[in-house]
Amino acid sequence: MSGPANISPGPNDGSERRPRHIFVTGGVVSSLGKGIAAASLGRLLESRGLRVVCQKLDPYINVDPGTMNPFQHGEVFVTDDGGETDLDLGHYERFTGENLSRASNVTSGSVYLSVIQKERRGDYLGDTVQVIPHVTNAIKERIHRVTEGDVDVVISEVGGTVGDIESLPFLEAIRQFGNDIGRENVLYLHVTLVPYLSTSEELKTKPTQHSVAELRSHGIHPDVIVLRSDRDIDDAVRRKISLFCDVRPEAVIPAPDATDIYEVPLTLHEGGLDQVVCDQLGLVTGPPNLTVWSAMVERSLAATREATVAIVGKYVELPDAYLSVVEALRHGAIANDVDLDIRWIRSDDLSGLLVDAELDGLDGIVVPGGFGARGVEGKILAIRHAREKGIPFLGLCLGLQCAVIEYARAVLGWADANSTEFDPSTPYPVIDLMSSQEDVEDKGGTMRLGLYAARLEEGSLVRELHDQELIYERHRHRWEVSNRHRGDLERAGLRMSGISPDGRLVEYIELMDHPYFVATQAHPEFRSRPDLPHPLFAGLVAAARAHREATRPAAVATE
Ligand code: GLN
Repeated sequence: MSGPANISPGPNDGSERRPRHIFVTGGVVSSLGKGIAAASLGRLLESRGLRVVCQKLDPYINVDPGTMNPFQHGEVFVTDDGGETDLDLGHYERFTGENLSRASNVTSGSVYLSVIQKERRGDYLGDTVQVIPHVTNAIKERIHRVTEGDVDVVISEVGGTVGDIESLPFLEAIRQFGNDIGRENVLYLHVTLVPYLSTSEELKTKPTQHSVAELRSHGIHPDVIVLRSDRDIDDAVRRKISLFCDVRPEAVIPAPDATDIYEVPLTLHEGGLDQVVCDQLGLVTGPPNLTVWSAMVERSLAATREATVAIVGKYVELPDAYLSVVEALRHGAIANDVDLDIRWIRSDDLSGLLVDAELDGLDGIVVPGGFGARGVEGKILAIRHAREKGIPFLGLCLGLQCAVIEYARAVLGWADANSTEFDPSTPYPVIDLMSSQEDVEDKGGTMRLGLYAARLEEGSLVRELHDQELIYERHRHRWEVSNRHRGDLERAGLRMSGISPDGRLVEYIELMDHPYFVATQAHPEFRSRPDLPHPLFAGLVAAARAHREATRPAAVATE
């Protein structure tokens, strides 16, 4: 039961562990790269030996992003424990290397749902249930929840822009948080935009001043301001913002556009961010060890070996819909010193007759995950092209399902083979609903979600790439390869190279007489890191590069 009193985590007298809390807000415009700034700070603090957990507080009313359209919201990122979360969690994981849980994504919808459920159960004992303190307490409780375990620092990013109606309860909760646990344990970091006006040829600080004034009207005085801009910011601008926004000059940190997002931690470190944060929060550590990270960034920037890989998908107008796939490809490219050209191909646009022309010049093809029938036939055509022309191919989730359909149609001659997701009355349902999913009505969180194991077959390409027999990957699907048709597909030459340990579910397929034809029911892209590229993506880029060298030796020679 929780009454209207404020949550208090206990005394701040050193008698217990005290995790520090950093709250990241954004001002002026959305899409500032707040998530990348939060993730980069996480990397810097981890590089100082601290254990960091990042968290996203999202003001929208959806309980989780699982049901949101990728065209609007971008990718749904899946955590080990099967949380369907905001794509910023992907940045947090890639930058910090820490595997997060569903607790790291809190939406207004999930907070209100829990408060209303409590009210219905009578837990508030007849109180009038209000935003302050009931909703704000629920938010603070969710912030405390991620400190379980040995966490030194929690970085909580508030989604949206200061001034949005929806974010008010979150701002109020983080303001209270400072009083609850002691202001010295809390740091408020505000990320703003400093636009350049070409007519007057100067960077303008006024939007930042207004945004900080807005934040202060909610009782939050920022300790650090990170300035996003499309060019370098000089000391005069820093000093001006320091003066007008009442923030120490060394706590005004420039963050100009980077050529590579993985450079951002290094830029922020040069600006002094991690030192300012540690000083303010009383965190005593040595300097950050950024040797491996810097080497990775240098390698990425120095790569000159070319290769072109296409992503054939339904949501290509919004590349954020495939954010983790793109990042995993980039990680694979870094590992191979490849300057990767990623080409976007709308699967709806692919037509039978022209497909070879439309896919000409590619060194690799990725068919990522997706839902619904639209664009599926185009994906199947792209896979046929890859299979027949020996172009390296990686299929992810729906990509595996399309590869199985393509094989059944072309090699077994089952012209109407399909998934029951797209054609419920197909005579050859090679992809069918998982038996556990047949009667499910509720569209939220009803899929096979999160980490599941697969046993990789001895001698297979996936086993060689992973160099491990039992592997775990994240999943998000309702359909699977039908066990009724598995035997026929295998006899026709489709290798089922990874199966769930109970033998029931096909997790990996591949082709033997092809340079690289691999697909998985999982989403390996979610576990790839810039400094630890996923073997299937590194393998694809290596194969794509080999394809380029074999097919265009003249171009390769002049690189
Ligand atoms: N729509 C397919 C399914 O539900 C694939 C899902 C996906 O690609 N994530 O099984």
